Amino acid sequence: MSIFKHNKLKINLKIIHCPKCNEEQPKIRKPKGWTEILWGGNTCKNCGCKMDRLGNEREK
Ligand SMILES: [Zn+2]
Repeated sequence: MSIFKHNKLKINLKIIHCPKCNEEQPKIRKPKGWTEILWGGNTCKNCGCKMDRLGNEREK
């Protein structure tokens, strides 16, 4: 999606991608729960896959 590519140029942070669908994950987002607050993980808004901060798929 073009909006994410634009953001990638503006912020010099490592962007992780969904391990399942390769969707770029935004750095700034609302944590889905305490596990994401604790581990800094993310939930893909495209397919719902949960991952850790390195972009590895998590089971819970
Ligand atoms: Zn995904």
